[in-house]
Amino acid sequence: MDTVIYLDNNATTAVAPEVREAMMPFLGPLYGNPSSIHTFGGQVAAHVTRAREQLADLLGCHPAEIIFTSCGTESDNAAIASALDCYPDRHHVITSRVEHPAVKNVCQLLGQGSRGRRPYRVTEIPVDAEGLLDVAAFEDALDDDTAVVSIMWANNETGVLFPVETIGALCRERGILFHTDAVQAVGKVPMALADLPIDMLSLSGHKLHAPKGVGALYVRRGTRFSPYVVGGHQESNRRGGTESVPLIVALGKAAELAKRNLGKETTQVAALRDRLQKGLLDKGPDARVNGNPLLRLPNTTNISFEYVEGEAILLMLDQHGICAASGSACTTGSLEPSHVLRAMGVPFTAAHGSIRFSLSVYNTAKEIEKVLAVLPPIIRRLREISPFGRDIQPAAAG
Ligand code: PLP
Repeated sequence: MDTVIYLDNNATTAVAPEVREAMMPFLGPLYGNPSSIHTFGGQVAAHVTRAREQLADLLGCHPAEIIFTSCGTESDNAAIASALDCYPDRHHVITSRVEHPAVKNVCQLLGQGSRGRRPYRVTEIPVDAEGLLDVAAFEDALDDDTAVVSIMWANNETGVLFPVETIGALCRERGILFHTDAVQAVGKVPMALADLPIDMLSLSGHKLHAPKGVGALYVRRGTRFSPYVVGGHQESNRRGGTESVPLIVALGKAAELAKRNLGKETTQVAALRDRLQKGLLDKGPDARVNGNPLLRLPNTTNISFEYVEGEAILLMLDQHGICAASGSACTTGSLEPSHVLRAMGVPFTAAHGSIRFSLSVYNTAKEIEKVLAVLPPIIRRLREISPFGRDIQPAAAG
């Protein structure tokens, strides 16, 4: 296989060449500890400061509001744990039905009573058939016992955007902390956190062309915070552990590039995504888009090819060097569609044939044309041999 056509950027992204270049000195001569008192360490600390400013510029917040972490998952865990520590008398957590496991599984454990905490009441807000949040149900769920609301900004499977401003405003009126998992949204939608009622926000470097193993948590000034990783005084006593300087510098550079490329996301990347989506819908019958087509990330489309097994499509695309993702979890042997598609009520035959295409600024029109040439015949061939007939029973949909 000579070249890969990579359409799985919601899973991870290529490290940008500029990012790789920026981090290299910190794997070489600039190896000092940013906490050291000597000039050598101080030099390195200046680059951590710069990275914080670059990220703050992308988010539209103050650099002091950023805590560097090891990944999006840590940021999500830290935000929720902090809220519970800071509001020990409240025992209700509100989230959505379509969160990433980094939030979903934390909430599930809280519901069972974990880490010495008594069981929390957990409310999962439903979504409609287009993946949009039921805001009325959310408002109804808010009460005096709510310690934190953790609802994502953009869904990783469908790209559907949630109304974070409305959610945050409703929380603020009631003095409830609002955390949003913005791992998929950062770098793809413009953000001005200083003007938004968001108390905490998680992001991850490897979704925006930095390497894996670095993330950040935004904590709005004045928000009560209790550290999750306890140790030294790093990150202004909010996250212990010697800073991973190369990765932090990389995240800073990636944020700078992302800010510069924001316009391209909404024009160039969205146009390629739309071309791909239209081409696939036009060329094949029984294809449908999962998720609201407008309130969506510019880089994502989730398309169901009915009566075909998604993982079979992925394997055949793979033979052409095309990387995408599927919305069913057949690797578990359960034939269970993803919790996101189930929450949207996507029919069994469609959920099983769902493919997520997620693009980046590095994709080209030529690549999209190649996919449009290759995929429709694959779908036709798979339909011919599919064990899923049009009369399949939805018994296994769960
Ligand atoms: N939240 C969302 C919405 C994600 O898509 C992901 C990763 O796929 C994460 C959290 C976890 O991020 P990380 O891989 O950096 O832990």
